[in-house]
Amino acid sequence: MSHKLILDDPKLNFSAAHFLIEHDKCSRIHGHNYYVKIEIFGDLDNNSMIIDFLKVKKIILESIEHLDHKLILPMKNPAIHVNENGNNLDIKIKKTEKFYSIPKEDIAQIPIDASTAECLAQYIYSILKERLNVKKFQIMLNENTGSWAAYGDL
Ligand SMILES: [Zn+2]
Repeated sequence: MSHKLILDDPKLNFSAAHFLIEHDKCSRIHGHNYYVKIEIFGDLDNNSMIIDFLKVKKIILESIEHLDHKLILPMKNPAIHVNENGNNLDIKIKKTEKFYSIPKEDIAQIPIDASTAECLAQYIYSILKERLNVKKFQIMLNENTGSWAAYGDL
């Protein structure tokens, strides 16, 4: 038997643009209002808590802030070629022959293969793994109403 804490707060959200290279419709730049939920499993501490809700909320908000109102660029994707061009990034997509030149400040360069909800959930989990002092947790990421991806210690 173990305890579980669920943090399901609409404030844990960010808006971002992205594209999925090989996808028919989603290969075009478009946006989502993402929403993060967390479940934390564990034993109770001296204060009879797994961890303080407020502390978790603050850490999640700090951890997703760099994604908010940005274009998410999956830097580990071999089809994406990026060159600095002054204040812009010139982005060439090998497979689709698309080319974008976008201000650097508008882009979140993220070390993932693709900006799918699955990879983004894993990425957010990896940031929180460093920052949350808990043994077992799961991140859920909502991309569209009813569409969730989850990653964590299942
Ligand atoms: Zn999308």
